[in-house]
Amino acid sequence: MTGDAAWLREAVTLAERNVAEGGGPFGAVIVAEGRVIARGQNRVTRDMDPTAHAEVTAIRAACRERGDFSLAGATLYTSCEPCPLCVSASLWARLDRVVYAADRHDAARGGFDDREFYELFARDPGTWPTRVEALGATAELDPRAPFDAWLAKADRVRY
Ligand SMILES: [Zn+2]
Repeated sequence: MTGDAAWLREAVTLAERNVAEGGGPFGAVIVAEGRVIARGQNRVTRDMDPTAHAEVTAIRAACRERGDFSLAGATLYTSCEPCPLCVSASLWARLDRVVYAADRHDAARGGFDDREFYELFARDPGTWPTRVEALGATAELDPRAPFDAWLAKADRVRY
């Protein structure tokens, strides 16, 4: 087994090992130029961190390893189709590719149904389980002020 299949096998093995160690059934590996930059496992329950999905923990570790907030040129191999959080994290990380093993339906069978999150964006936000509301400008609040400060900062680091 070589290439994509071998890296994916490693991600699945990390997922299986994580279950044995008390974590969720998800693992991820980030690879660039034929070598592993970082590995990640789901740490939600162990770290009390709902964002500690395997892909996110791998992205965080890979960025620390690289000393960069961009993972351009790298591929994320994950044991399961990334949820919307992890797809977004992958886009922000500028990963070249994401390759997964199990799909969202396999995850649902395991009790992790993020299909509803995928479907959420097509629905009226008023029906979402978490209400997301814009308050807008008030006499005491200028919502654009942080962006004005950002644009006025000559040495800002774009990302
Ligand atoms: Zn996720």
